[in-house]
Amino acid sequence: MRDLGRPAVLLALAALSCGGSKGPTPDFFVRGAGVIVQSTAPFTQRPDLPARIESTVDAALAYWGGSWRILEGRTITLEGDQHVACAGATDAIGCYDGDIRVSTRDVSFAFYCVEETVLVHEVGHAVIGDPEHTDPRWMDFSSLTQELEGRTGYAEDGEVPCQIWTSVWRHPPLR
Ligand SMILES: [Zn+2]
Repeated sequence: MRDLGRPAVLLALAALSCGGSKGPTPDFFVRGAGVIVQSTAPFTQRPDLPARIESTVDAALAYWGGSWRILEGRTITLEGDQHVACAGATDAIGCYDGDIRVSTRDVSFAFYCVEETVLVHEVGHAVIGDPEHTDPRWMDFSSLTQELEGRTGYAEDGEVPCQIWTSVWRHPPLR
């Protein structure tokens, strides 16, 4: 999945056409959703990762008005590269095509916690679709920020604050 070009595109299409039943075996499951860790970001190696994903997705589902049933049998992949494979996009930091993929790093640093990734954004696509980002909730997220802020993050050398930048989650409507 790390190669650019055709192999990544073929993998993305394969995931689309078979609803995510192919691909790497999940490292663990959270409420029926398979989680695949393809990253060495410190937070992905911590024992609290499953609980952090569960509580983050739980809060995101409440924000978007969805339930865990939507993610049952789907996968959530944490990607170490800055960009994730996504049909029709070369610079995606997150993708929902039946399964969710999110990057675990920004341009210059790895995120300190799963809450900092675009996971809550991609859960939004899983719940409401809306690829054009016309729903006003894509520009809000304030209730979700309140719920998820103040947690522990992880750097190479230990614990740091998990710092949420709502701008990472937001997406202005396409003009
Ligand atoms: Zn989006």
